[in-house]
Amino acid sequence: MASISIALSKGRIFDETAPLLARVGIRPRSNPETSRKLVIATNRRDLRLIVVRPTDTPTYVQHGGADLGIAGGDVLVEHGGEGLYQPVDLGIARCRMMVAVRKGFNYANAVAQGARLRVATKYVNTTRQHFAAKGVHVDLIHLYGSMELAPLTGLADAIVDLVATGRTLRDNGLVAVEEILPVSARLIVNQAALKTKRAALQPLIDAFAKATQ
Ligand code: ATP
Ligand code: MG
Repeated sequence: MASISIALSKGRIFDETAPLLARVGIRPRSNPETSRKLVIATNRRDLRLIVVRPTDTPTYVQHGGADLGIAGGDVLVEHGGEGLYQPVDLGIARCRMMVAVRKGFNYANAVAQGARLRVATKYVNTTRQHFAAKGVHVDLIHLYGSMELAPLTGLADAIVDLVATGRTLRDNGLVAVEEILPVSARLIVNQAALKTKRAALQPLIDAFAKATQ
């Protein structure tokens, strides 16, 4: 029996994946949210979960540290997707990647005038590509979290971050001014594993596809 591992992250991704796992017939032996275990056995002897940071999920799957993974579209676009198949959009953890600025900052005007924008984000590749395509010059500031702080402290003119309800932006006096991409979580597969373990992986991929319908 081929052994299969699925990489996923705690927090939002696990919260929203748990019902899908149940529908696919996978029951984790411990709860990733409360357990400190990073490798979690399931009711299926051939299948285990690997708990990683959200941004590390594509890297684990790309290099074969896991056969499958569940990762946000934000993280996948930023990673680039090399070595990965993305067969199923799971339709969960939906949000949008957006440019946001301080309320009162005239973004359209700054862009029209060709001003050099300082943009803080953890999505540096995606942000660079977005502004390059618009022909806007940017100085990127790489942060690992709490992007909302950057415009408030004068660190940056704008941020690129995920927005779901807009509440966090609003609470911090920021407004979204431009959408970069719609985001949802996807099932990803190591391309080499799909060839060598297809008999084991394909039924799981099909089950996830069916569970999202
Ligand atoms: P880390 O733990 O490394 O700091 P993080 O704080 O980004 O990562 P989460 O907030 O759990 O971790 O986000 C994980 C994924 O969930 C994101 O990559 C994205 O795909 C999705 N996500 C993030 N924020 C939202 C949101 N507001 N609404 C819906 N999905 C979201
Ligand atoms: Mg976090």
